[in-house]
Amino acid sequence: TIALAVSDLKKTYSGGFEALKGISFQVQSGDFMALLGPNGAGKSTTIGIISSLVNKSSGTVSIYGQDIDRDFAAAKMNIGIVPQEFNFNQFEKVGDILRTQAGYFGIDQKTAAERAEKYLKLLGLWDKRDDRSRMLSGGMKRRLMIARALVHEPKLLVLDEPTAGVDIELRRSMWSFLQQLNKQGTTIILTTHYLEEAEHLCRSIAIIDHGQIIEQCSMKAFLARL
Ligand code: ADP
Ligand code: ADP
Repeated sequence: TIALAVSDLKKTYSGGFEALKGISFQVQSGDFMALLGPNGAGKSTTIGIISSLVNKSSGTVSIYGQDIDRDFAAAKMNIGIVPQEFNFNQFEKVGDILRTQAGYFGIDQKTAAERAEKYLKLLGLWDKRDDRSRMLSGGMKRRLMIARALVHEPKLLVLDEPTAGVDIELRRSMWSFLQQLNKQGTTIILTTHYLEEAEHLCRSIAIIDHGQIIEQCSMKAFLARL
């Protein structure tokens, strides 16, 4: 099964800058893939389009066979997104953030409460459930972003530079959390500009530069050529 298929994706921003020049790549179900590239390569633009937060200029994206334009409602059920910037309501309580998110996916209140508990516990945030999100440390906010992305239990999790600006200890615990999640069957794609992170975590890699995919292969094949 193909978890994600991106085909000839182009993006020209309103100022005229061509950020994506027709990129194509596929991710198999169960894979852990890195989208690696330098700053400005087009990683966040790609993730933004996959998550329907950024409009594409042309091309197609499908998630587990569902086109994000034609089958939006079905596609969104299968994907969880962890954006780079914190974008939750700073005054909402941590537990409510997860329950509200579950509501967006049509999950009933009882299940929503169970899921909120499950994911807050998994990410070490259960003690913080009644705190407003603005009271959390930077690292806790990162973990809250991940918990929120998982509350509808998507088959595919996409993270944009999840460990940027994170201390070593939290980075290690995020790495092992993601590895565990992947082992349990969640397909994961993350963007990074650290080869070390990609090497540690990922089984396959796509390299993006100046809005183009210049390479897609297994991590093994990639490392053998370095
Ligand atoms: P990356 O995530 O790999 O650092 P981005 O996708 O954020 O790259 O950006 C790709 C290019 O598009 C960069 O040159 C960036 O300056 C440009 N860009 C990103 N967002 C916008 C925007 N809203 N308007 C114009 N240009 C943008
Ligand atoms: P700060 O932003 O102040 O550095 P963090 O939220 O990053 O605080 O981290 C607080 C502590 O919680 C760290 O020691 C971190 O390793 C730990 N931690 C990180 N992830 C988890 C987790 N999944 N479960 C329990 N503890 C965690």
